[in-house]
Amino acid sequence: MLNCGSSSIKFAVLNLEDKRTVLSGLAERLFEAQPRLKTNPPGLTEELELSGPGHARAVQGILQLLERQGLPGQVTQIGHRVVHGGERFKQATCIDDEVLAQIEACGPLAPLHNPANLLGIRAAMEAFPGLPQVAVFDTAFHQTMPPHAYRYAVPEDWYTRHGVRRYGFHGTSHAYVTQEAARMLEIPVQNTCFVSAHLGNGCSIAAVKGGKSLDTSMGLTPLEGLVMGTRSGDLDPGLHAFLAENLKLSLGEVNDVLNKKSGLLGLSGLSNDMRELERAAADGHEGAQLALEVFCYRLARYAAAMCVPLGRLDALIFTGGIGENSALVRAKTLGYLTWLGFVLDADLNRVMIRGSSGLITQPGSPLALVIHTNEELMIALEAQEVLS
Ligand code: AMP
Repeated sequence: MLNCGSSSIKFAVLNLEDKRTVLSGLAERLFEAQPRLKTNPPGLTEELELSGPGHARAVQGILQLLERQGLPGQVTQIGHRVVHGGERFKQATCIDDEVLAQIEACGPLAPLHNPANLLGIRAAMEAFPGLPQVAVFDTAFHQTMPPHAYRYAVPEDWYTRHGVRRYGFHGTSHAYVTQEAARMLEIPVQNTCFVSAHLGNGCSIAAVKGGKSLDTSMGLTPLEGLVMGTRSGDLDPGLHAFLAENLKLSLGEVNDVLNKKSGLLGLSGLSNDMRELERAAADGHEGAQLALEVFCYRLARYAAAMCVPLGRLDALIFTGGIGENSALVRAKTLGYLTWLGFVLDADLNRVMIRGSSGLITQPGSPLALVIHTNEELMIALEAQEVLS
């Protein structure tokens, strides 16, 4: 599995029989001096200096690492995370020249991500010739949303001619955790109604009924919806004009601030890291306290809204770095949802950290679950499904 960003590549080799990670790692600072490649546990921690800048050299480095471990002969396919598949890709797809061209055509919808994803795919095609390569799209899972959930109330030709609509992201994670929740609760996926909250550096929430996404908080871009580490989430569309007029900011400058200097970081004036904010809030830092409150309030408001298309709720799922580790965020969020009947089990909530999964509510309460997400595994499984 390869997940290529503009200056880094995450990779993982997974055994699909026992679903274990054989080797995983990260190549980062691809365009700085002496880019490096590092493996994570559970494989042996190894480091490699790359022979130069760019994605192609990083993928060559990954191949070299696999060779050291005697793995290349065992790799049967490569799944690539691709951020935007527009309306064209409703599921994972085997990559050929036409698919490459269509991923490129979705570029204007994700200018920071799709070009990097393409660089990684092309590098992998060169480094692993003859191996099937599969694109797994962040947006594909949400292609089941109905028009009343994905259309914005803007002129129709913005949609028909320019693709202006809500797409949603984090699809692989929402798909994985809702399948896992169904398995945990022993309900067939097709009978389930879940609200799934993926809370990492980026945050989104989705309404998933019968394993299909009916609505989600992210939109045309991953900026809409919940408060995130450095992204604002929802705000007044009139803000851009206000800032241009009064602060003389350009559109590019506004966009930059909303993506990189807002969210938890902007509100707290301190950090985008939830761990640091929790510590500072406990020490009385007012900015950190406010950031936490806005984060949880917005999340609860969205969780309630996501129940609308479901008609029933089997469980509210927390996942991602914050969702899986922050007992405080989960407690505060459920605190805003007591009117729905949620009653937290404080002991269960406290121990649900570091990759564990399970229930955090008391008997009689609607269920809230923590589920450890595994996007790498999901990408590999989806790639395997396409090829079989
Ligand atoms: P991710 O993008 O899924 O890796 O999540 C990153 C986010 O998870 C960051 O905001 C971290 O601060 C947060 N996070 C990781 N561990 C913890 C923890 N133990 N408590 C609170 N937040 C955490």
